[in-house]
Amino acid sequence: MADQNLEALLILQDADLRRKGMENRLALLPKEMDAIIARRDKLNASTAAAAEALKKEELAVKQAEAEIARLTSESQKLQQQSALVKKNNEYQAMLAQIADNKRKIGEIEEELLIKFDRVEELKSNAEKIRRANALELRNARTEFEELLEFSKTVKAEIAKSIADRPALTAKIPDELLNTYQRLLKNKDNSAPLTKLDNGCCGNCHMRVTMQTANELSKGSIEHCDNCQHLLYADPE
Ligand SMILES: [Zn+2]
Repeated sequence: MADQNLEALLILQDADLRRKGMENRLALLPKEMDAIIARRDKLNASTAAAAEALKKEELAVKQAEAEIARLTSESQKLQQQSALVKKNNEYQAMLAQIADNKRKIGEIEEELLIKFDRVEELKSNAEKIRRANALELRNARTEFEELLEFSKTVKAEIAKSIADRPALTAKIPDELLNTYQRLLKNKDNSAPLTKLDNGCCGNCHMRVTMQTANELSKGSIEHCDNCQHLLYADPE
């Protein structure tokens, strides 16, 4: 004849351990969510960096084009002025300046060709990165929302478990319940009530004394002589 409290205690323990498991899972969620947020920030930063590199090169193109325009306009002015100059050395100096500007413009135009290629390259690169990151961002957002939803579900289940608990403890005597609850608070998440396994405690695996084994075989709930966990034996 099994202890009349055994079944009630096993049902209570089942609910309590399930709830403890959910609470442990819930405790891990903030870290997981923070990791997703960090991933999102990294993706946004990578998209922004690619766009920034393109912007920088486009600005360099604009600056080079502005410099060409400046040199061209300067040369045109020199050309006009040279027609009015009387002294030969001044005239020669102007022609030299015009020639120098032409050389500079040639150099800048060569650099511009490279810059145009670079802009095209950076543009396609930025677009590729933006698309890939957008996809990753969507995945991250979905994961985040799923965790949020999961967290709500788990919280609701925990609340329900807590609300249902008084009904499960109602018929268990105070002394037994107090012992059980003290063991439940163990940080190692062990089950307060464990089954005798081949004459050994299911928690610490030490062999119980003959006397304890004898009491257990009568169907009562006993303490392990070693770890003090609650023990019961399967009715044979
Ligand atoms: Zn034990």
